[in-house]
Amino acid sequence: MEGGMISVDRWGKGSQAYFLTHLHADHTRGLSSSWRRGPLYCSRVSAKLFPLKFPDFDLSSLRVLNIGSWHRLSLSSPSSGSPAEVDVMPIDALHCPGAVMFMFRGDFGHVLYTGDFRWETTGERSQKARTMLLDALNGANVDVLYLDNTYCNPAYCFPSREVAAQQVIEIIASHPEHDIIIGIDSLGKEDLLLRISHCLKTKIWVWPERLQIMHILGYPDVFTTRTSLTRVRAVPHYSFRTDTLEGLNTLRPTIGIMPSGLPWMVKPYEGKSKASETCLSVTSTSRRYNVPNGIRVDRNMRTVERVHQYIYSVPYSDHSCFPEIKDFVQLIRPSNVKGIVSMSPWYVDPLYYLSHLFRSNQRPQINSPNPESQGQAKRVQGQGKMKSKDFRGARQRAAEVNFFGVRIRRVTIMRRIHRGVKIVESHDPD
Ligand SMILES: [Zn+2]
Repeated sequence: MEGGMISVDRWGKGSQAYFLTHLHADHTRGLSSSWRRGPLYCSRVSAKLFPLKFPDFDLSSLRVLNIGSWHRLSLSSPSSGSPAEVDVMPIDALHCPGAVMFMFRGDFGHVLYTGDFRWETTGERSQKARTMLLDALNGANVDVLYLDNTYCNPAYCFPSREVAAQQVIEIIASHPEHDIIIGIDSLGKEDLLLRISHCLKTKIWVWPERLQIMHILGYPDVFTTRTSLTRVRAVPHYSFRTDTLEGLNTLRPTIGIMPSGLPWMVKPYEGKSKASETCLSVTSTSRRYNVPNGIRVDRNMRTVERVHQYIYSVPYSDHSCFPEIKDFVQLIRPSNVKGIVSMSPWYVDPLYYLSHLFRSNQRPQINSPNPESQGQAKRVQGQGKMKSKDFRGARQRAAEVNFFGVRIRRVTIMRRIHRGVKIVESHDPD
């Protein structure tokens, strides 16, 4: 496929069709209510949530794609003007409501863009997604895989969300007299909250905009904006702070729970020693392990950590951990892979650990950061704040999606040429 035909989670000029994997802020940067650059393809759930995020958006630009079905797009070659047909199938990404991966198929072969995804190996929904993916491929190779490499490092090993949710429930149940604060995003972790509500038979407080989202998603009436109805409150990440929790504890006993794949710790600021002058920061993964509820966990698997007098970190993640990424790559054995998360302290070229699973001899970039240093402690700037958003903010997505931004092995190119397809070859690994 030539550049200038399709963009995924990128909203600049110059594409004929735009695709949205999901509505998290780092995937919608550049998108606004006044955006008018072409048809925007997304899942049905994302389309339902769209007006809330972009109130004056021209909804006639949205094109809903059904998950698990092929859809044909009639585009044209930017260089020759000749017609070019592209098939696309959205596949459940198991990330947050509405999140999908996109499988593209055409004369260029197969290209899979995962967006953010959680590739769990257990659970009915995960099995369905796996079957959907294999059916979409129908024995074909993935020529280019754009991969969510957020945790593409063996240091990142955490349990399934089912296990992590149970850990959260146990923390809450063991603090019957405490108020509970849980840090969440504007979208995602709904299943965790529903499970807490179900198991502990309690409503859950959310802020007003979040309640609207819950209503749009059609979740049961367990969410409320009335604090008097519950002791469990889900709050935005940005308000989940050590100093806030310390302040709340002067009024009522309160604990905070941060569900995240990132490991956290509290560090005093340099030259400061008072407890209130601490911050939460990301640290190397723990080597501790336990066996909650008889479920065996890997020796390196992260578990619950009490990172502060009032704060627990629980490895509940909507991104795949390293063993799941490996399983995914092993399943589809792509010819070429590019990580979609780049330019951050957490970036690891997926080739570094996974190239032996590819069909081609693709090698890591020479200037890749040393993955062995990725798990080291990084102090978060900002006093008293748990600023995982700083890390999210630092994550920059790969620039324009250009399917030939990844080196295609020569035999693949020759195959395309023999099919009479115009090939634009790029030697720029970005
Ligand atoms: Zn996301």
